[in-house]
Amino acid sequence: MHSTDLEFDRDHIWHPYTSTTHPLPVYPVESASGVTLQLTDGRELIDGMSSWWCAIHGYNNARLNSAAHAQIEKMSHVMFGGITHQPAVDLVKKLLALSPPHLQKVFLADSGSVSVEVACKMAFQYQVNRDKPLRQKLLTLRGGYHGDTLGAMSVCDPVTGMHTLFNKVLPQHIFADKPSASFHSNADPQQLLALDAIFEQRHEEIAAVIIEPIVQGAGGMWFYSPDYLRHLRALCDQYGVLLIADEIATGFGRTGKMFACEHAGVDPDIVCLGKAITGGYMTLAATLTSDKVADGICAKGNVMMHGPTFMGNPLACAVACASIDELLANDWQRQVHNIENQLNQELAIYRQSPNVHDVRVLGAVGVVELVAPVDVAKLQSQFVDRGVWIRPFGKNVYLMPPYIIKPEQLSRLCDAISVAL
Ligand code: PMP
Repeated sequence: MHSTDLEFDRDHIWHPYTSTTHPLPVYPVESASGVTLQLTDGRELIDGMSSWWCAIHGYNNARLNSAAHAQIEKMSHVMFGGITHQPAVDLVKKLLALSPPHLQKVFLADSGSVSVEVACKMAFQYQVNRDKPLRQKLLTLRGGYHGDTLGAMSVCDPVTGMHTLFNKVLPQHIFADKPSASFHSNADPQQLLALDAIFEQRHEEIAAVIIEPIVQGAGGMWFYSPDYLRHLRALCDQYGVLLIADEIATGFGRTGKMFACEHAGVDPDIVCLGKAITGGYMTLAATLTSDKVADGICAKGNVMMHGPTFMGNPLACAVACASIDELLANDWQRQVHNIENQLNQELAIYRQSPNVHDVRVLGAVGVVELVAPVDVAKLQSQFVDRGVWIRPFGKNVYLMPPYIIKPEQLSRLCDAISVAL
């Protein structure tokens, strides 16, 4: 890329969470293939991020490419109001086959945040329609993240989710403590009692609980006890509250299970999927729910009040079908298990560093949590110099590579983390 284009980018284009007056540097990528990003200056970087949980099969995958080409020759988009098409029908069949059997209705949205908005609206409409009009609040967890639209933001962690900035416009929901017990331990009994108390006192206000199952991602890359999730499910059942599982980051095998709820043996009432649904090719998301919830919403002649322009986009649905086929053909469980083993072995060394607070691994996610926040721009350039693409945030330097990564490539990523120390 010409240096004037980089200047143009700096002057005119907003990147995620950046200042226009003091933007962080950006690296121009020319192409990407397998697990490698190629910069315009010819340098090659091993991708440790899967483009934020998405590119589970790596880049430029033959099966996904051919699905995209084949579909674009037929139609890339057509409205979904009053029209249907094979890619949507095929995708929903595949999603239902992967999901718990009670999930039978699927809303195809256009991004993760929108699928969260849809899930919350489903819960509110359901409660109103069953004559519980006061149940218009959500219960969620501190340390959570569910997207950047206003509704989704209102259930993000109140501190890191910028609630102070948007205080006057965000709806006020109910927050329980971040689950303190880690993935391999039992939940803290005090925290379970605190949940009991919230439900006992406020259940008549609560439409649904919304959580990221097991892995709290952007809120801190924290893996919590399945016990906590099971307890939430039991309370939801007891008090007629819906459970929304935001599997946007965790879905499609990333944590070692197809969906993270499976770690706890919990079946949610509503599930949000996104990110890896298209293998990272383009934006698409889905909100799945049960007949019970869908029929409740649509009772008394009501309809689900949402219908985005790009709902069920055929191109995205066709690629999503190919991505699910690729996942199943690739023996993803073995791939993720091998990555997990290697991350456990090769990140363990960092536990000895005084700069490291914790090292944790779950499925194909490895996290080195430092004692202090990193200087992102500086560290990023050191990683690029070492030929890897790792994008830390806050105190967390983490890896979530494409499932197809080779052991020697993963070793390069694990080794590179030493520069952060
Ligand atoms: N929920 C979770 C758990 C996420 O990680 C994200 C994306 N980081 C979202 C929702 C929002 O998805 P999108 O960025 O596609 O709107």
